[in-house]
Amino acid sequence: MIRTRFAPSPTGYLHIGGARTALYCWLYARKMQGKFILRIEDTDRERSTAESVQAILDGLVWLGLDYDEGPYYQTQHMDRYREVIHLLLEQGKAYRCYCTKERLEKLREAQLARKEKPRYDALCRNLTTTQEDSFVIRFKNPTDGIVEFNDLIRGKLSFANTELDDLIIARSDGMPTYNFTVVVDDWDMKITHVIRGDDHINNTPRQINILRALGATLPHYAHVPMILGSDGKRLSKRHGAVSVLQYREEGFLPAALINYLVRLGWSHGNQEIFSIEELIHYFDVTDINRAPAAFNQEKLMWLNQHYIKTGDPAVVMKEFAWQLEKLGIYTANGPPLNEVTHAQCERVKTLREMAERSRYFYEEVIVTDDMRTHFTAELMGALVMLRDRLAHLAIWTKEMIHETLMEVAKIHDFKMGKLAQPVRIALTGGSVSPPIDVTIYLIGRKRVIERLNHILT
Ligand code: GLU
Repeated sequence: MIRTRFAPSPTGYLHIGGARTALYCWLYARKMQGKFILRIEDTDRERSTAESVQAILDGLVWLGLDYDEGPYYQTQHMDRYREVIHLLLEQGKAYRCYCTKERLEKLREAQLARKEKPRYDALCRNLTTTQEDSFVIRFKNPTDGIVEFNDLIRGKLSFANTELDDLIIARSDGMPTYNFTVVVDDWDMKITHVIRGDDHINNTPRQINILRALGATLPHYAHVPMILGSDGKRLSKRHGAVSVLQYREEGFLPAALINYLVRLGWSHGNQEIFSIEELIHYFDVTDINRAPAAFNQEKLMWLNQHYIKTGDPAVVMKEFAWQLEKLGIYTANGPPLNEVTHAQCERVKTLREMAERSRYFYEEVIVTDDMRTHFTAELMGALVMLRDRLAHLAIWTKEMIHETLMEVAKIHDFKMGKLAQPVRIALTGGSVSPPIDVTIYLIGRKRVIERLNHILT
């Protein structure tokens, strides 16, 4: 059974890079009918926050990346880490190191002065007595040979053990360190595929050595290349939104972000648009690109527009409703949201834009003096007639409204546009809206009459 995990450190929001890694882990688990596990790596107590945990959970829910197990919290596994540390000490695979900060600092300076890579010189490795002083615990890394593994994305990688020093696995306060907790959890959680950012690539040989010392079966590793900004530098806040939930705020649909992220580093021929089912079918970890990919906001926008027009109407409506609520637009007394989404979907790029442009369906409009210049004397007769006919329409349908507009324009010998545009301004306070008959229909009879009256008096 394939078991993948997403193991974020809750020290900030869920960013685009993390979300893409989570997506790859999720897709692979779904494809192989395995399990996707969420593990919160919160051992850095100073930097981990409950808000970040929440932002990660919310981001995953919003993207639809459901997990089969977890969230596990590393801070809840402390006893287990201590147990394994104890085991390694007992088996002579780890040792107490009493070296002081000062000694380590001097060692480092001397090594740097000799242009050597700073590393611990294993002074305490062969101590036979225990001392009273404070100590850290170090793992006895093999001193020779190589660590080799077949990265599913990058191919064979090998590291000389002489490059790796004896890693600290527990600090002087007893707190286990990052590389160690990951190993214990991957082992305990029977993770078969570690798919993670390639910023962890140098940790992998260290983790493999510890796993071997524990007699654990090694997982497969896949290191996903980073995401770059448009300037070729690692994607960061400087490039704009990088948090998943920020994209929600900006009016993107989860399906658009998923589709965008999956393609950023993976492809299937020239296909750009994928349903989730297709992704699960086609995706494979080994097909992830080796080279880093650059983030392209326009392409994401294009996908968003596509999904606003063709995506699951229930999700589009849900996100639209969320945007309206954030703008403080009360929708209970206006047209049904699904009809407004349907009318607006062709002309917006984001759902925030859709919400901003839908105020007039739900709130009174303000017609400025400037706008009043559109209501010329020759138009007034037509507007009066339109108002009266609309007021007495037997049934309020788009078709009847359309016919009424045509008749009024014809009687006054106006082209449709000449009548439609001022009506649009009177009803929406602006010059852009869905087709005028649809706009009138959705605003509703009462409000339409009130707004026309406002212009006419
Ligand atoms: N907690 C690590 C991070 O957020 C990920 C560790 C891993 O995937 O092994 O970068």
